[in-house]
Amino acid sequence: MHTRYPAPANARPLGLGFVTAVTNSASPAAHWRELALTHGDGGFAHRATDEAALERAQRAIRLVYETSDEREAAELLNAMLAEHTGHAELAELSDGRWALRPALSPAADAAAALLHTAAFALGSWLAERGRCAWGSCAAEGCQNVFIDEGRRVPQRFCGGACATRTRVAAHRRTAAARKDGDLPPR
Ligand SMILES: [Zn+2]
Repeated sequence: MHTRYPAPANARPLGLGFVTAVTNSASPAAHWRELALTHGDGGFAHRATDEAALERAQRAIRLVYETSDEREAAELLNAMLAEHTGHAELAELSDGRWALRPALSPAADAAAALLHTAAFALGSWLAERGRCAWGSCAAEGCQNVFIDEGRRVPQRFCGGACATRTRVAAHRRTAAARKDGDLPPR
């Protein structure tokens, strides 16, 4: 018997964290099982993985994260929804919550499961937030995408480490410019 509790009102769409993590993974096929289990969907863990198919899926999903234009995102997501989602079903999650979501064929492989989840989770998120509440990290050398959880200012970095690294680098550049006389001393 599960402990039952309602989803918090501000819960983000199911699968959003998983989709972001797989999209950021350098070897999605090797990490698929671990990521599926970490993000709480054991039903995904056993799906067949194909490195090339997963990389294609990553690229398709990345296009969504990289746009801040709602209409463009909707067009990309609509194409994904049309290709990868079918009829809706009620699914009981491992923590006892119920989710209404498009049914996924038992035969679907990892890449299809990823695109199916991405289409629905990112689509719900766009509808809920009314904007492209996501992005790709602005830090030099970081390719990560992220979900913007909506603080007062738009998020620019994938996490605290990248934000700090960028701030420190900018500070060093300013300090070096002052030393070289390119900027007046403070
Ligand atoms: Zn980053």
